[in-house]
Amino acid sequence: MTSNNWFAVGLASLTCSIAGGCAMDSSSAPKPYKAEVIDHLPPTTERGEQWLVAPRNLSLLEDIDTLQSNFFSVNLGGVIKISSNFGSLVSAELDSTSNRGRLRYTVKNGVIIPRDTSSLLALSSFYAFERTINALKASTGLEPQSLKEKINGPFNLYFEPTILEKDGAHKSFYTIKFNAAFNSENNQFYLFRRSEIESIPFSANIKVISHEFGHALFKTSFNQNTVENCTLPNEAELQTRREDKFFRGRWSLEYAISGLNEGFADFHSYVVTSSADIFAELNPAIANNSRALNGIKFNFSQLGNDSACAGRFYCIGTLFARSLYNVAKRYSNNRAELMGFSRRVYAALEKTAENMRKSPAVDIIPFANQEALMCKRRDRPVLTYDGALTSSFLAAFLQSFTAGEEKKLLCENFTELFGTTGFAQKVRVVCEP
Ligand SMILES: [Zn+2]
Repeated sequence: MTSNNWFAVGLASLTCSIAGGCAMDSSSAPKPYKAEVIDHLPPTTERGEQWLVAPRNLSLLEDIDTLQSNFFSVNLGGVIKISSNFGSLVSAELDSTSNRGRLRYTVKNGVIIPRDTSSLLALSSFYAFERTINALKASTGLEPQSLKEKINGPFNLYFEPTILEKDGAHKSFYTIKFNAAFNSENNQFYLFRRSEIESIPFSANIKVISHEFGHALFKTSFNQNTVENCTLPNEAELQTRREDKFFRGRWSLEYAISGLNEGFADFHSYVVTSSADIFAELNPAIANNSRALNGIKFNFSQLGNDSACAGRFYCIGTLFARSLYNVAKRYSNNRAELMGFSRRVYAALEKTAENMRKSPAVDIIPFANQEALMCKRRDRPVLTYDGALTSSFLAAFLQSFTAGEEKKLLCENFTELFGTTGFAQKVRVVCEP
């Protein structure tokens, strides 16, 4: 999409609101619905990735005025109260009494034409989510219906909600800092108001939406579809935790596991969109490309060094995502084979937590440190501690791969990017043929 038609959309919105409301006649929009949305075209050998506004089928959409579908629904406006956050994973609740927004559009030759920027973005979010759902069977092996049953109902997307802190005070900085988020407790996605640093708003950016969806898939696979929030222990519980490496809620707080969750989400975004740079649409003066799968190289031993990678636990994720991406590249000319690899990755994640309880992974897992015992989140890596956790995770993950070229390449990439601290010699027996 050029900046020219972006501006044109902005002007249409102005005209619409000055005119005092826009014509809406949903009965004239035929099903299956077709709407003008922002679409992303993957890079090809001749050109880079592209964006455009074009009519696209919204084949899952059941009702244009409520933006409902069988697998997810887009809710406009509303108020959410955020109690805590960790990267793009948040804990929040929705105020069900709050007012919802509504879509403004006209219908021209059977195509829904959004009449303001928010309506364009909401329809584009729907389209991006639909594309992610449509890729689900190929990327994970899961039928959308079985995923829906796993999570007890459709996913809910909250589009441009107003953010309040739990005590009710306005915190406008959330809208800039966290543009999209997944709430794993209740399977809700939040798409926040756009900020001036995005050339394509995150809420309509399929790369961001499929990344957030990757968190939902990490939950259904690695986390066995359960949310284990860490709760502050009493004295007796604290003693139990000191002796139990797998106490409930530990993984939701560990710096390394949070990072690996982000890394899988980045890889899932690549699988759905074929784009290796999730933040290509961010202002380059603000974005640093250390998260790009093909970006400037760094390794595990450089994690504490902000000039190598400033993304805190995200940097651990990037090392994981890059390892997967480097293997996936061999399938880049064959989407069916790429999807086959993606399904093997998802299947391996489903077994990873269980394999972490077995040798050699279990032997290297450290007992929880003081912060993890007390449900505290760390802001900086502790290389040996976090490296023991990634070593265990990577070994457990690899155990699901059958011996062969793919496993060999995964081992080589983990060895190169994680080194002996993040992928310890001791667990590399899983790489032996
Ligand atoms: Zn994330």
